[in-house]
Amino acid sequence: MEGMTIRGRLERGVPMSKLTTWRVGGPASFVVWPADAEELISVLRRCRERGLRTLVLGLGSNVLAPDEGWEGVVVITTLLRQAEWRDNVVRAGAGCSLAALAGEAARRSLSGLEFACGIPGTLGGAVVMNAGAYGSDMSGLVARAQIWTPESGCQERSGSELGFSYRRSTLQTCGRLVTEVTLSLRPGEPAAVRRVMDDYRERRRQTQPRAVPSAGSVFRNPPGDYAGRLIEQAGWKKRRIGGAEVSASNANFIVNRGEATAADITALIAAVRADVERRFRVRLETEIKIL
Ligand SMILES: Cc1cc2nc3c(=O)[nH]c(=O)nc-3n(C[C@H](O)[C@H](O)[C@H](O)COP(=O)(O)OP(=O)(O)OC[C@H]3O[C@@H](n4cnc5c(N)ncnc54)[C@H](O)[C@@H]3O)c2cc1C
Repeated sequence: MEGMTIRGRLERGVPMSKLTTWRVGGPASFVVWPADAEELISVLRRCRERGLRTLVLGLGSNVLAPDEGWEGVVVITTLLRQAEWRDNVVRAGAGCSLAALAGEAARRSLSGLEFACGIPGTLGGAVVMNAGAYGSDMSGLVARAQIWTPESGCQERSGSELGFSYRRSTLQTCGRLVTEVTLSLRPGEPAAVRRVMDDYRERRRQTQPRAVPSAGSVFRNPPGDYAGRLIEQAGWKKRRIGGAEVSASNANFIVNRGEATAADITALIAAVRADVERRFRVRLETEIKIL
């Protein structure tokens, strides 16, 4: 990174625990917050030329960062937050907060993003993960996305070209960057949009741990069932390894009780998975990304 001028922000030796919602992970050699999409692409390109490892993150709300940290450059998208609203369409930077977009949609009497009001990530992360809740997900809203790869440069892709399925998209393949997304919403009735959001927020309050670090659901739901139900039935609620604990309010959440390490969380994930497989013959797959 020596000699690289950055218009956004550049810091050295930042603990990954400060960059992820699980609040674990050792230091990243460098962290860059590019000022805009152009700078983001330029940073990735220059790092590639210099043989530096890169990792793109939004809010870090779906990742487990290693205790050893990240030898290389972590590039954070959160300064890419311009949003242009026209009728029922919004074109927004990958770093926009998904929940803030959902709130703005409600203010504009637009329907479609209600499910997203409690999902704490960026728009880019949500598209990559095909984030969803309460029967809806991003796949139903993405009209287009601007994708950059080192091989092909910038390309505009339609939503149907992004290979969406349950919590998956082809963007999860290494090296694809989302810089901008166009969402197509529907005209809605303001009171109805707010009512649905209030209902979802209340449901979250009742079924998810609050004010403790986590990364949301750890495992994908197996076909026709819920990971949380299986883990709870297997008796894992409140069980701990080190500072990592299976949440008492939602067995598919692992919370950091304050002093958890990535090794604690990884060990708990492995123990839960082995026990669920032994008891129910169901192999749980992780939804979170282990870096
Ligand atoms: C309390 C809590 C509740 C949650 N509830 C839900 C829920 O209801 N539904 C749900 O689906 N998820 C939920 N999550 C998980 C998480 O919030 C979502 O997956 C979110 O969309 C991730 O966005 P992010 O910006 O934090 O992504 P990150 O965690 O930063 O990144 C996720 C992955 O995407 C990649 N990535 C991020 N941005 C880009 C980009 N611009 N271009 C290319 N790759 C990128 C990263 O490299 C990483 O592999 C929850 C998490 C928490 C902590």
